[in-house]
Amino acid sequence: MATITKLSPGLWHISLPFQGEHDVIGAYVLAGKDEVALIDPGPATTIDALIASLEEIEINPQKVTHILLTHIHLDHAGGVGSLLHHMPDARVLVHSKGAPHIEDPAKLITSATRIYKDQMEELWGKIEPVPVEHIQILEGGDTLNIAGRRLEVHYTPGHASHHIVFFDVHSGELFAGDVAGVRLPQVDYVRPPTPPPDLDIEAWSSSIDLLKKLHPDVLYLAHFGPIHGVIPYLERLRAQIFAWGDIVLQALQEKKTESEIVQLLITKTKPELQRKGAKADLMKRYDLATNYEMTAQGYIRYWKKVHPDQV
Ligand SMILES: [Zn+2]
Repeated sequence: MATITKLSPGLWHISLPFQGEHDVIGAYVLAGKDEVALIDPGPATTIDALIASLEEIEINPQKVTHILLTHIHLDHAGGVGSLLHHMPDARVLVHSKGAPHIEDPAKLITSATRIYKDQMEELWGKIEPVPVEHIQILEGGDTLNIAGRRLEVHYTPGHASHHIVFFDVHSGELFAGDVAGVRLPQVDYVRPPTPPPDLDIEAWSSSIDLLKKLHPDVLYLAHFGPIHGVIPYLERLRAQIFAWGDIVLQALQEKKTESEIVQLLITKTKPELQRKGAKADLMKRYDLATNYEMTAQGYIRYWKKVHPDQV
């Protein structure tokens, strides 16, 4: 079962049980008078829990009008094609660079299979295409009037080249996807989610500047939940992104292999999480949200692609 938290009038946060764990992947539900929007509805493996949660808050899934995607990574959007069987009238809003890959997920599946290998089915389930007539393309700079809210769309590359955020200018709530990092409840610790193939740490840093300029009151993370004290939090995230990047760069210069780099990252960064009091179950959930292999692969590809002169 999912767990549901009401955050503000017409806004719910649903914890989707991922691989049996809670507080790892979250979806947001916005309900207005005539419209219902989901933000980052999650993978196909959690669709039953999502549908049950909507029914629990007395929302008929058939009445969902909009599905907003911060980006198309499988933990955020892998289930969107399958979800449309339950939500036949929903429009899927996505950045122009992400749209082709939900319409035809073949490349997305190939790229994710490099990371998740034989775990693809178990983690993500069936990845169905989204029919083109359901797709509404965003660029950033758009303004959406959905579910009684006015949402600004801002383009925030770095974690992914097609990443966007949704900012409610009136309430100060910002739906941040992964550009605001991974911070799970119960511990004051932020981990940079740095997957291949298009991690770009300079672009990410600029996106953090943009988020700061918006002065949101609260960030709603996909992994996981609300963050207050936005400015210092974002600066800590930025510091982590660069610090972890430096570890990988130095290791590449020392000609270490990928598996050596994974081990090095674990050795250098896990003590901080332990010092903050994280126990084994929380460590496991951090790894479910963003694991070390993926982190290492993302940075390695970034340094070789963007700064080949340095490695
Ligand atoms: Zn992501």
